Amino acid sequence: MNAVAAVGIDAGSTTAKAVAVDAGGGMVASRLEPTRPRLEEQAAELIGALERDLHTAGAVPVVATGYGRRLVRDAARRVTEITCHARGVFRALGHGGTLVDIGGQDAKAIRISDDGKPVDFAMNDKCAAGTGRFLEHTAARLGIAVDDLGARALATDVEEPISSTCTVFAESEIISLIGRGADVDEIVRGLHRSLVGRIVTMARLVGITPPLIVSGGVALNPGVREMMSQATGFEVVLPPHPQLMGAYGAALLGLDE
Ligand code: ADP
Repeated sequence: MNAVAAVGIDAGSTTAKAVAVDAGGGMVASRLEPTRPRLEEQAAELIGALERDLHTAGAVPVVATGYGRRLVRDAARRVTEITCHARGVFRALGHGGTLVDIGGQDAKAIRISDDGKPVDFAMNDKCAAGTGRFLEHTAARLGIAVDDLGARALATDVEEPISSTCTVFAESEIISLIGRGADVDEIVRGLHRSLVGRIVTMARLVGITPPLIVSGGVALNPGVREMMSQATGFEVVLPPHPQLMGAYGAALLGLDE
């Protein structure tokens, strides 16, 4: 195994991620777990566990990002998710484009230049309906695992339109659709359409410079990717380990320390 040169930690609202890189910027190890209420302790444990795995305790710089980055005591630097996702994705793919990072409680659109700089961004952290939380809540209501949602949305061409613009009201709408005997896959497809509509509107705010790139946990959903491509007419590119791109970018910034 190559020697670890830096660690990045992404203290997200839904998941906490840690990534270690070697001096060449290759990802050598990672950890991901659900965010716990005591994020300060969790971040320290996560870094400790990663360092123990790799026998590097305390020897390498740590850069923190994510909503809880200020709670990461061991961080040499704290950097915004915009900078870290752009850095991680550009390194992973080797090209720019318009990146959409869809996490558990927020979503961001970031236009990345041909030389890897984040040149514009827009963010939704006010409304759950444009985030992973929307699909999580509605999946729970339908009794479907989040991992299976995308396949269910793609299993049909027909969709039940979801008119509610709020997660709570969408849940009530689902209950009445089920009561009327609507097909579950068609409801799921309608929910994806609603989320994708919000995401594409946000991406257009910064301008779509193709390809569209997706990161964050919701990038793992094939229904979201396919329907984003249909809605825009642009190719949607998935980097390897999309949920780790923020932590990876943070670790790469750690190499500059
Ligand atoms: P944050 O960084 O904001 O804490 P993440 O980027 O880790 O959040 O994304 C969390 C979201 O990703 C959750 O809403 C979850 O439902 C979604 N998610 C995680 N894994 C999958 C998967 N395999 N398929 C679809 N969605 C997923």
